[in-house]
Amino acid sequence: MRSLFGLLAAALAFAPLPLYAQRLPTLVTPDHYDLAFAVDLAHNRFDGTETIKVRTTEPTSRVVLHALEITFHEVTIGTGAAAQKATVALDDSAQTATLTVAKPIARGSTEIHIRYTGILNDKLRGFYTSKGPHRSYAVTQFESTDARRAFPCFDEPAFKATFAVKLTIDRGDTAFSNGKLLSDTPGPSSAQHTMAFAPTPKMSTYLVAMAVGDFQCLDGAAENVPIRICATPDKKALGQIALDAAQDILRFYNRYFGIKYPFGKLDVLAVPDFAAGAMENTAAIFYREADLLADAKTASVETRKNIASVLAHEMAHQWFGDLVTMQWWDDIWLNEGFATWMANKPLDAGHADWNVSVDEAAETQRALSIDSLKATRPIHSDVATPAQIDEAFDAIAYEKGAAVLRMIEHYVGADTFKKGVNAYLAAHAYQNATSEDFSKAIASTSGKPVERILPTFVNQPGVPLIDVSDLSCDAAANETRATFAQSRFLVGDSTAAAGRWQVPICVAGQKDAADSCHLLTDVRQTVPVAKGCASWIFANAGARGYYRTAYSPAMLKAMAPHIEGELTPAERLSLVDDEWALVRAGRHSAADYLTLVTAFGRERTSVILSEIIGHLNFIHDYLATPEQAPKLETFVRSLLRATLDELGFSPAASDGDDRRALRAGIVSALGRTGNDPDVIAKSRAALDRSLQGGAPLEASVAAAVTSVAAGHGDRKLFDALVAGSERASDPEERYRTLSALAAFRDPALIDRGLQMVLTPQVRTQDASLQLARFLGNPAARAKAWTFIKANWAALKPKVAIFGGDTNLVAALGSFCDAQARDDIKAFFGAHPLPAAARTLDQTLERIDNCVAIRSAQAGNVSAWLARR
Ligand SMILES: [Zn+2]
Repeated sequence: MRSLFGLLAAALAFAPLPLYAQRLPTLVTPDHYDLAFAVDLAHNRFDGTETIKVRTTEPTSRVVLHALEITFHEVTIGTGAAAQKATVALDDSAQTATLTVAKPIARGSTEIHIRYTGILNDKLRGFYTSKGPHRSYAVTQFESTDARRAFPCFDEPAFKATFAVKLTIDRGDTAFSNGKLLSDTPGPSSAQHTMAFAPTPKMSTYLVAMAVGDFQCLDGAAENVPIRICATPDKKALGQIALDAAQDILRFYNRYFGIKYPFGKLDVLAVPDFAAGAMENTAAIFYREADLLADAKTASVETRKNIASVLAHEMAHQWFGDLVTMQWWDDIWLNEGFATWMANKPLDAGHADWNVSVDEAAETQRALSIDSLKATRPIHSDVATPAQIDEAFDAIAYEKGAAVLRMIEHYVGADTFKKGVNAYLAAHAYQNATSEDFSKAIASTSGKPVERILPTFVNQPGVPLIDVSDLSCDAAANETRATFAQSRFLVGDSTAAAGRWQVPICVAGQKDAADSCHLLTDVRQTVPVAKGCASWIFANAGARGYYRTAYSPAMLKAMAPHIEGELTPAERLSLVDDEWALVRAGRHSAADYLTLVTAFGRERTSVILSEIIGHLNFIHDYLATPEQAPKLETFVRSLLRATLDELGFSPAASDGDDRRALRAGIVSALGRTGNDPDVIAKSRAALDRSLQGGAPLEASVAAAVTSVAAGHGDRKLFDALVAGSERASDPEERYRTLSALAAFRDPALIDRGLQMVLTPQVRTQDASLQLARFLGNPAARAKAWTFIKANWAALKPKVAIFGGDTNLVAALGSFCDAQARDDIKAFFGAHPLPAAARTLDQTLERIDNCVAIRSAQAGNVSAWLARR
């Protein structure tokens, strides 16, 4: 699945259940499901007929399987003369149905027949109703534990089986599922037709997919695999970017993987309401519209990159997740970490000017940030309840998982790693696997101690901090040595905490020196790091290591002249983020960080600048007093204005993607943090022109310009944006304007924007994201929180969807005072969100950290600004 923020995380809320309390017994296992659905969209319901072929390992008169919001009509177990009626006992809290027969079922194979009715719900999970502009659609989202809402089943990833799906639907509609279409016949009534799909290969229940409606598709193919990009009829034409990308990605994966795309066809479908970003159902990937569809003539770099990136993620899942599936949800990183790691490869191969290696370094930073909290979790974490499983789809599973894979890949070598990955896939195809299975595969291919390294990153929480010191030259041996010491890094805590990892530390630095890796196994080790006498080193080559680095002041000083010319962009990014993290931890001064930033005035990599700008925003909003804020704004202008003057406010036709992205970042920073009157005026003028039917905004700067203008905008602009968002025909434009509505500072306009979240103008899938935007706006933050509390009864159903709860709770981490902290804690104590319990702990910890850093660093910022 593709989450929205990479911030999703959660834990158990109510009574702690014994672990595995909800696991099914393994006495009876499924081999095959025949599933027939008659879908009644007009009444939001369906009738189901199901046959499950099962095997039993010993005689039993009870079969326990999962079922939720299912009404059973008739259940029989056995075939022919041996068939007997079963009684059904439902357990809503365990989400199970126990089928009981009078005479024990013999050991061996048998069949379960079930006739039942289900509902098409409005919760965006299970089999649900998705509302388009003119009609409703029936679609599924089963990951993690919601297949049981559509058909009674053994709803755990290790119960793999084959599935043959048949859908009876209205005559004018079409349907999609995992298998190829086998037949399409009229009936049973004159207003219906029935589509039968080919049986799937062996797979888990959470990957079964169905969609019903008047969807239309663009057709393509790659490597003899038919590919369709489908959407509601009004948006069919917006699928071309995705179709081109999907074809390229499939060709790339067929070269990388030893097993070619195994599922025969690939359908990719955008649906109007979808809680996650996208879902990797086997051969039938489902999406929210904004992540798949865009106008090929106007789409920005960011949007084209996002479409390719999410597609590459979901398509990577066809191998990592669909073909080889984690044994249980405690190893969800084997799906999400792998898909996140893999998705960058086809993008990098196809687009040199997308700077994918810098995006990877930024991805690692998102993991390091959450993993530097006490309320983090290990990659491999026990989970039992559906809420715990939902919350495990977090930055630890995705970004930390991917970062650890990159580290191991760099350490053993990309070709060796690829062989190991392919050996792992071949050994477990159509089956399940664990973290240990993967460690063993890479260890045996590489001959390196991966099975000792990986568990230290997978089974324990947190980030190693590597202190680098004592750089010295041994002239006799013609080598340079350095001392590495490890401890656990925690933000908001300057004392070293316990923790021991096996860390591959790869050193870059001297231009001619080849990267050299050392395995740090002890708390402290002195090792040779370079040939000859090096005056400086950088102890995280390519930013591929999953750790933070702290250099002695002397070493930082020696490195300084080399940062611009000799560190790669990814390395520069990790340096500024590590230094900022050390400020957050109270080990370095915010004043020294600001001095470091002055050296980045000529930085041209947009992602690095946007990290720095994020830190300057933090200093502006939390560490500088209102009186000092203008001085910091002047500093931001002095840092960035020259670059904008060189780039120009409007793009030249010859500008590449990286130059366009850089301009957008700088316009946004100057307009917001820099409070630059010229940028603000130009943004407003350009936006007014486009809203009045003049020249449309240039794609790459459109979001920045709109948000800057809104940040300084009046009622007239607000009204024009509301009208624009309703008119918008493509998702990019619609979300750009929706997002800008949360950027206004006028209290009356903030109120109006918040009220919209209660209306259908803000879809359920977007509600928590929109509230998060208000919480990110310092002028709107307090109002947004008051609004959320006052309207909780109406908001909760919109927020409590997959990822919605965690996004909202994470966004509350932007508060920076003890009173808000206590209020947030009390509110969610009284109104618990079970799938955001760990996220709440993280949010409270972030607020505490912010309060602490403000008291520790505000004086340093003040003194630094006074000196300018
Ligand atoms: Zn995923």
